[in-house]
Amino acid sequence: MRDILVVGAGNAALCAAIAAAENGARVTMLERAPQELRGGNSAFTGGCFRTVYDGADDIQHLVPDLTDAERDSSDFGSYDAATFYLDLCELSGYRADPVLIDILVEQSLPTLLWMKEHGVRFLPSYGRQSFKVDGRNVFWGGLTVETAGGGLGLVDALFRRAEALGVEVRYDHKVESLLGDRRRVTGVIANGEELYADAVILAAGGFHANTEWRVRYLGQGWDLAKVRGSRYNTGNVIRAALDLGARSHGNWSGCHSVFFDAGADDFGNIGVLNQQKNYFTLGIVVNRDGQRFFDEGSDFRNYTYSKMGAAILKQPGGTGWQVFDAKATPLLPDEYRVPRAARFEADTLEALAAKLEGIDTDGFLHTVFEYNAAVDEDVPFNPAIKDGRGTSGLTIPKSNWARTISEPPFVAYQVSCGITLTYGGLAIDSEARVQNEEGEVIAGLFAAGELVGGLYYDRYPGGAGLTSGSVFGRIAGAQAAST
Ligand SMILES: Cc1cc2nc3c(=O)[nH]c(=O)nc-3n(C[C@H](O)[C@H](O)[C@H](O)COP(=O)(O)OP(=O)(O)OC[C@H]3O[C@@H](n4cnc5c(N)ncnc54)[C@H](O)[C@@H]3O)c2cc1C
Repeated sequence: MRDILVVGAGNAALCAAIAAAENGARVTMLERAPQELRGGNSAFTGGCFRTVYDGADDIQHLVPDLTDAERDSSDFGSYDAATFYLDLCELSGYRADPVLIDILVEQSLPTLLWMKEHGVRFLPSYGRQSFKVDGRNVFWGGLTVETAGGGLGLVDALFRRAEALGVEVRYDHKVESLLGDRRRVTGVIANGEELYADAVILAAGGFHANTEWRVRYLGQGWDLAKVRGSRYNTGNVIRAALDLGARSHGNWSGCHSVFFDAGADDFGNIGVLNQQKNYFTLGIVVNRDGQRFFDEGSDFRNYTYSKMGAAILKQPGGTGWQVFDAKATPLLPDEYRVPRAARFEADTLEALAAKLEGIDTDGFLHTVFEYNAAVDEDVPFNPAIKDGRGTSGLTIPKSNWARTISEPPFVAYQVSCGITLTYGGLAIDSEARVQNEEGEVIAGLFAAGELVGGLYYDRYPGGAGLTSGSVFGRIAGAQAAST
């Protein structure tokens, strides 16, 4: 029986552990966090998975308890392999590793079905990814399923299955370095102890929680970002692999970051989820000068939201406000109804401006009035398609979903930058084997999840992170158990 060490205990690590165990290996997971904070960034997620699917039949396969009434009242659409592949190409500026994204796309649905067999429960993502149009739930963003109970539900289901398969999880075990050399890895050092194995699978996340690395790799100002998720993803396992001779890969100066509650803690708090604010498409966003600074309606939020943290970080004071009126607020999902959101409401725009501390009130009012006058009222509003209802004559247009900010009550949410994950990491091949700087495979070393580089550059399609961790985690586990 082969002995496998899995480093980390998030989604990628758990999928790797389950795949290795079902292929007959003895698996030990080494997790830096204490048990009560287990699950990494994966536990913080909404559990949304991007996958290829062909209409309601595939959704029904993933969601066996979908009722006839739900099926009849939903337009799930389809998301084919070519579209998923093209999305990954376009959002990365055609830099994404073609071998890896091909596998990610092709294996997305089979991997989710495999997870379902292992006890993960999927549901249609009604609340976040569909809008009611003519009485039907219309899905719009290629991101149609989420796990029951969100990220916590996901990792709980995977831990249950891993433990049932005999996987041992050692919490409070920080992996510090790898044993071996640039051609073969034989184990790890964790908490000062040498642990040997036939194979090691690295799934310890990226480096978003390392303030110093953020400045070093992402650039000036990134020390000021708030960490949305796990405080344990500091890149030290990436560093351990690089020290051994592994090849760095991907967009080391790139990351996923979003509009985030201005009053949020510096690190993710599992008791206060949903502090992102991603439905700016339904309103406008202004900075401290009261100015808009990007086209809020350029595309569905799934394809633009991952750059918004960087955008707000560059604004004066690194802060701004998302502004909505009574026409838009009923469409905002539950992330706008969480405790501790910096939310301001008033019956007039002037009264709202007075509540936005630090804003240039004249600038703000001028921006809203100018925007309202520029909205094309002749095009019908439809949030489930790119409706082409835009503005005309503004220096910064709003290209879709433009509606006036005119019906009280008016609401503003103050936002800052929340970093989600980093894009740079290690180079792997099609079997999730880590490569060395010479381009050869490092025998006995596999990787999956956030610490793999080469998948995302510049932008990121929502829901790809969990899917890629599952796809490559499953491959890594099966390969490690059999080679
Ligand atoms: C708030 C939030 C919401 C998100 N929502 C979604 C979503 O809905 N859909 C989606 O696809 N993606 C989402 N993401 C991104 C998603 O979380 C990641 O892409 C994915 O979870 C990464 O999984 P992973 O297993 O690679 O890393 P993680 O889940 O972060 O697991 C890494 C694990 O390694 C451990 N570790 C770190 N260093 C060491 C060490 N030295 N020794 C031992 N263990 C170590 C960590 O403690 C952690 O448990 C979200 C992220 C956040 C923060």
